[in-house]
This record gives sequence, structure tokens and C-alpha cells, in this order.
Amino acid sequence: MFEFDADDIAQRSSTGTLPTKTQVDELVAAAHARYATLEEGVVADYIPILAEADPAWFGLSVVGVDGTAHEAGDTGIAFSIQSISKAFVFALVCDELGHTVVHEAVGVNNTGLPFNSVVAVELNDGSPMNPMVNAGAIATTALLPAGHADERWQRIRDGLSRFAGRQLALDGEVYRSESFTNHRNQALARLLQSYDRLAIDPVEAVDLYTRQCSLAVTAHDLAVMGSTLADGGVNPVTGERVISPESARDTLALLASCGMYERSGEWLFEIGLPAKSGVSGGIVAISPGKGAVGAFSPRLDPAGNSIRGQRACAYLSRALGLNLFASDPQPLVSPSALAHEGVRS
Ligand code: GLU
Repeated sequence: MFEFDADDIAQRSSTGTLPTKTQVDELVAAAHARYATLEEGVVADYIPILAEADPAWFGLSVVGVDGTAHEAGDTGIAFSIQSISKAFVFALVCDELGHTVVHEAVGVNNTGLPFNSVVAVELNDGSPMNPMVNAGAIATTALLPAGHADERWQRIRDGLSRFAGRQLALDGEVYRSESFTNHRNQALARLLQSYDRLAIDPVEAVDLYTRQCSLAVTAHDLAVMGSTLADGGVNPVTGERVISPESARDTLALLASCGMYERSGEWLFEIGLPAKSGVSGGIVAISPGKGAVGAFSPRLDPAGNSIRGQRACAYLSRALGLNLFASDPQPLVSPSALAHEGVRS
């Protein structure tokens, strides 16, 4: 069981809005200070370049749906977005093709198995199962309508940039490092092809997927991107509508069930938020109608989730009242008070 270490923080209910700016600033700083010295976990190295990350990096950003940012630590350090791209590419594809197509073509159920599992595909008659595991993400990327590979890539990069509110750049070193070593993703794409589950050529699909994972973002970018999902698909900083409210809703539902690898149930139980993490150490956690947390710290647990990032999210979920499931009872209204107001039962 993962220790989220926020049991002593009182759970504020999710009703209403974020606390005041000063309070959020203080709580973000407190969460950062509390976990900044934690040294558990290991930096990912199965993509060789990721091993060069400084394990001490730790950035925490909260962006509210009014566009206000609250930040602590290394929120300006760029890192590759990795699996977090899956959430936003899914949002774009869902927005383009609709709820039913992505549901049928990819699926929406958790595999309960690691993100790069081949067995999960085999156990499910070739279904990639959901867009947050590698097989499902490759299948989802392949669905994005475009005339050719360059156009598909432009659409992905421009779409993720609109979520971030700035033009995102490809980290060429990460792209090359991952392209040389992503044999397993190539195998997954071939497996999907053998089940007739891939809309484009597998080499092109894996290349696009590798590029999307190599886009460079900061913890601040993740918070803005998440806050766009929290704000019904409108970027709260630029004011641009990126996707429809329905596609934002569908993306958040998927993140709640599948966003945190095989720890998604445990995460939802403890933290109560749709979220997505990536092996470079990023996490985005979204509180619909309120805003989002962007966290970055490269030390990971065995499932691939940033340890400091998870703990900071647990802290902020409680202290800021983000947990979707934490409600306050409404005061009871007595029948006589209703009668006094002219309401009859
Ligand atoms: N690009 C990485 C891979 O395909 C993403 C993994 C992750 O962040 O979960 O292995």
C-alpha cells in the first residue's frame, strides 16, 4: 500500500470555490516544504535520458479556473510530458470523433496491469482497453484525423499547446533516446495491428506517440492544462475554448478510472481527483470547476508515479477541499419554515 502521508491534514469539503489567494499560496508553499526533503523512490531509467534528471527537482503549481497561479519550487523546469500527453491527446480525439467512437475503438476500463503490458492486450482479445495505457494511447493517437503524418503531428502539438496556452516544443534528446529504445511500444503497435485495432501504420503510430511524449512542459504548464479540463474545456489563462465541455467531462472520467496506472483505485480512494502521471515525474490532478495541481519531481514509486507529487496532491486535496467526494450536509429546512415561506408540500 502506498503511504500518502496526509492523514493529519483536515479534509475541507469540495463544496464551493478555492480558498482565498493568500490561503492557497500559503498551502502550496506548505505542501512543497513538507515533502521537499523526501528521498524515497527512484528516477526512471528505462528511457536512458530520463536517468539524467536531478532527483532533487520539485515544483508545485495550482492554477484556478480564474487563471490565478499559486506556485512553489521548480515550477519553471522543463521536462518531457510522457504519459500525461495521453490525457490531452485523448481529449482532442474525443472532441473530434465523439464519445461513442473512442469508447468502442479503444475502451474505458482499467487493465489493472502495468502501463506497457502486452498481456493486457492478449487477455482482452486485442482490445487496447483504455487510452491511458501505452497500447490504448498508441491506438488513440492513430485515430486523430489527418491526411498524413506531419499533419497529424502538427495537430497534436498545436492541440496540446492550446491546453498549455503557449507553443510547446519537442525535446529532441528525449525523442531520440526513446526512439532508440521503445521496442516494447513497437511490439504493442504490431500486436494491435494483428488484431486490426490500429487505424494507421504501426511505425507511424509509435513515432507520433513518442513525439507527443517528448513535448517539454513545466509544472506550471501542467496546472494550466489541467485547469482547462477543470473549466469545461476553456483555457482559463488565454480564454480560448480548446475542447467542448462534454469532451472535458469524458476525459476527466477516464482519468478517474485509469489515470494513475494500476494505482488508480488507491489514488481515487485517498485523493478523490481525476489525475494523470508520467514517468518523468509529472502529475496533473484536476478538481472540476475549481482548478488543477501540476506537480513535478522525478523520484517514482514502482508503478511510475512521482512520490513527492502524490504526497503533495494528497495534502492539497485535503487542505484546499479538492476531493470530489467530500461534501458538507446542507442544513435541514423544517416544514414549518417552508410553510412560512409560502412553500406547500
Ligand atoms: N513514453 C513513455 C513510454 O511509452 C511513457 C510512459 C509513461 O509516462 O507512463 O514508455
